[in-house]
Amino acid sequence: MELSIVIPVYNEEENVEPLIQEINAALRPLGKPYEIVVVDDGSRDATFAVLARLHQREPCLRVVRLKRNFGQTAAIAAGLTYAGGDVVVLMDGDAQNDPTDIPALLAELKKGNDLVCGWRSNRRDPFLHRRLPSLIANRLISWTTQVKLHDYGCTLKAMRGDVAKNLKLYGEMHRFIPAIAYERGARVAELKVNHRPRLHGSSKYGIARTLRVVLDLLTVKFLISYSTRPSHVFGILGFSSGGLGFLIAVYLTFQKLVYQESIGGRPLLLLAILLIFIGFQFLTMGLLGEMLSRTYHESQDKAVFVVRELLGERKCA
Ligand code: UDP
Ligand code: MG
Repeated sequence: MELSIVIPVYNEEENVEPLIQEINAALRPLGKPYEIVVVDDGSRDATFAVLARLHQREPCLRVVRLKRNFGQTAAIAAGLTYAGGDVVVLMDGDAQNDPTDIPALLAELKKGNDLVCGWRSNRRDPFLHRRLPSLIANRLISWTTQVKLHDYGCTLKAMRGDVAKNLKLYGEMHRFIPAIAYERGARVAELKVNHRPRLHGSSKYGIARTLRVVLDLLTVKFLISYSTRPSHVFGILGFSSGGLGFLIAVYLTFQKLVYQESIGGRPLLLLAILLIFIGFQFLTMGLLGEMLSRTYHESQDKAVFVVRELLGERKCA
């Protein structure tokens, strides 16, 4: 199989059929074999019935029905598990992404990129509670992860099969696929794509996701920068806190011994003790992190590097 299109759907009964027709219309002219893997994420409407009917007449359609609603990230992960393509394209099931963009994404992959992300430059969503938060989020994520993209929220993406297989997705991390792939060494590019208003059904998300995105960002940043050296981040925090506490303690001791002042009731004393304690906690947390990191890598024989190419055979004497 050359190409897999992976689509998570949740309550999209009116959208799946037109979308699959559009995908067929966009991909047939390419003359390459492809499959469409639709993951029904525990829909409560007729989505699965529609998919089952479509499956009768569409030989390239695979339908994975999850037992309950696991969320978009898990649905994507399921789709990636069942996708067998050398190239995988991800897209939403609400027909907001435009399948006619797929050939351009594939062309961009051919240029040597491992992951090409869509950028909805004409995004058709309300400004105040959708586009504005996402503008801020994109800036923040680009700045923190150093993977500079205009649109982290766009599901439409094309990636090499090996990148897709190595993505470990948890929680709601599908928004961070570019950053996670980059951590494993992928070359990431972006391309302007079309975006259309939602015609049927309703969006599954609201403004409440903002805080969750910030928390996820913290996790992703930590994993990218410190997963193999957690003691560096905790150690720096620990030394700063402990060091400051120590300096305050020295000052208080000086006051006590040289000026014979009573320091027993001073808030500064409490602060010094607190900072020293927190410092120790951070340091030990860093050491625990180091041990966890070793367990994580060694238990799955996971290397701390990723090889892109290897030239030359091993020569035996
Ligand atoms: N989706 C899903 N499981 C969920 C929520 C959403 O599979 O629990 C799917 C949904 O059917 C759609 C895609 O994820 O195909 C994106 O969802 P939505 O269009 O609601 O997000 P938005 O475009 O509003 O960010
Ligand atoms: Mg949508």
